[in-house]
Amino acid sequence: MCRAVFLDRDGVINAAIYNSVEDKLDSPYSLDEFRVLPGVAMGVRMINDLGFQVLVASNQPGLAKGKCSAEFLEELRDRLAASLAEERARLDGIYYCLHHPEAVVPSLRGVCECRKPRPGLLLKAASERDIDLANSFMIGDQPTDIEAGAAAGCRTVLLNGHATTSRPETLIASPDHVAVDLLAAAGIIQSLEGEN
Ligand SMILES: [Mg+2]
Ligand SMILES: [Zn+2]
Repeated sequence: MCRAVFLDRDGVINAAIYNSVEDKLDSPYSLDEFRVLPGVAMGVRMINDLGFQVLVASNQPGLAKGKCSAEFLEELRDRLAASLAEERARLDGIYYCLHHPEAVVPSLRGVCECRKPRPGLLLKAASERDIDLANSFMIGDQPTDIEAGAAAGCRTVLLNGHATTSRPETLIASPDHVAVDLLAAAGIIQSLEGEN
């Protein structure tokens, strides 16, 4: 079996974008808005070097809500891969939940097992890749990330250093670790590995 570090995307890998219409943080919906956060490439490379698969596990209902196209999600994936590759960092896979209960696209509308806080994305990756979830990690900036990771049986790291809507008191599952950003979370995982 192999091990994985699952990463939420918005607020972990790239900056979340303030949506003034909905008064909440949202995903970038143009390449101009897409900005990789400081230290991310180095953090991903550290996790690569520790021998974990690095897998994105992210709710992306923008397509379902008519906010972006499938082509845009592919462009963004390519942009991210290129940005990480400049610093010899690599994502091993991307798992998106594209569904939403109020989707305008009928085929994406509904309650699914993969929208975090449900653990479906992590369980799917585990069955496809023979991942040992109990010795894997989920890193996210929202309570839903921590709940999904805990429900899948992973160890969890909550990031609290970027602008976020999460508040610790809203956490249902408490994280195993808290870190300021992805690079700091990678440092925690590296030091835990050193203890073994
Ligand atoms: Mg997030
Ligand atoms: Zn889903």
